[in-house]
Amino acid sequence: MTAESLIPKTELKKKKETIMSAMNTPAQPTTLEPVKFEQMSLEQETNPWEAQAARFDIAAKKLNLDPGVWKVLRYPQREIIVHIPVAMDDGTIEVFTGYRVQHSIARGPGKGGIRYSPDVSLDEVRALASWMTWKCAVVNIPFGGAKGGVICNPKKMSQGELERMTRRYTAELIEFIGPEKDVPAPDMGTDEQTMAWIMDTYSMHMRQTVTAVVTGKPVNIGGSRGRREATGRGISVVCDSALKYLNLPVEGCRVIIQGFGNVGSNAAKLLYEKGYTIIGITEFDGALYDADGLDIPSLTSHRKRAGTINGFSGAEAADKDELMTRECEILIPAATENVITSQNAAHLKCRILCEGANGPTTVVADDILEEKGVFVIPDILANAGGVTTSYFEWVQDRMGYFWTEVEVNQRLDTIMSASFDDVVHYATTHAVNNRIAAYMLAIDRVAYTTKQRGIYA
Ligand code: GLU
Repeated sequence: MTAESLIPKTELKKKKETIMSAMNTPAQPTTLEPVKFEQMSLEQETNPWEAQAARFDIAAKKLNLDPGVWKVLRYPQREIIVHIPVAMDDGTIEVFTGYRVQHSIARGPGKGGIRYSPDVSLDEVRALASWMTWKCAVVNIPFGGAKGGVICNPKKMSQGELERMTRRYTAELIEFIGPEKDVPAPDMGTDEQTMAWIMDTYSMHMRQTVTAVVTGKPVNIGGSRGRREATGRGISVVCDSALKYLNLPVEGCRVIIQGFGNVGSNAAKLLYEKGYTIIGITEFDGALYDADGLDIPSLTSHRKRAGTINGFSGAEAADKDELMTRECEILIPAATENVITSQNAAHLKCRILCEGANGPTTVVADDILEEKGVFVIPDILANAGGVTTSYFEWVQDRMGYFWTEVEVNQRLDTIMSASFDDVVHYATTHAVNNRIAAYMLAIDRVAYTTKQRGIYA
């Protein structure tokens, strides 16, 4: 009996219908006019795909993009949906739904993380895949964009269940991924261990060890030094650049960070070491505030011990939504999408918004922030440190020669600060905000390559 035949017939029918409707969704655009986001409902406003497409349309129009190229770049090239049977610890079989969306391979292999979360949806993965294309183009690394996701709750699964799910997901994608095709990496809910399982499963099928199939691996099996901290490090570099650009001192620069996962905690650590004052940290289960600055190393040890930031004696507890609206020089959303929306954007009191997460700000909030004069360092620039060091990892794997952490970090710093300068320069010369400048710069680069290669239509 195959694993799939264990799914009740009605379930299978429902799944097939879902797949059919999902496959029919990304139809050709009916109009090339940018969406009217003043008329968006909150549901539309917080749909990540709509958010991505809205910015894409604005930037494409400003670029006067060729209509054919516009259509090609607006939609993902390939969307894969898999239903993954997993043997659970209690002896039952569970079936999980997973996606891998490859938005573009114009500039190189698809690149992007894999997310494990109960909230994963095809629209979210589509948006994240497109953002990867633009992100890689902003920092000018030779990758396209892709993203994967599995609808599951990793916090409620055992290591064994996660390993079996990861291996079967990899096996389902075996002909679509590879060092020259599409290179996954960690994202929310996945980590170095997940990448090690993917690398091993892929290698078993290929009958040889292929380290360059994923990035974000443990260092002893082809991972890069500095990859774990890379996104946080990139954030700290663009914060430095923004302060310089705005003529603000590091001393006394107050920072509030939303999220204390891999991105938020490493950004906090590095900014703290550089002399920034981290006055607030918010997490899904609580928030901390200290006007004189939190002691980040002590907080990190506390979190390790207690499993939560709550109960840390060196700061006062705060309300997590309210804390984001307190006065600071830099606000860093470093968790998930849609935290800055039409509902709270007007209340923010930050000078700089540095987007550590993907898609934390909605398109309606963009306008409000622009009116308030907030200096936005958009996600596709601010959090590009992770994929940039992933690129270094892929290069090192293919060379079989590994760099020191100092070398990795120096290269990362150079790319991040040059990319910041490119985006800000583009914004000034084209009289657009930083986000639209980043999109325009990226779309222009991908469009140029697309035209040069020619459209196989
Ligand atoms: N998941 C990360 C991102 O959203 C890293 C992707 C990668 O390294 O490929 O940028």
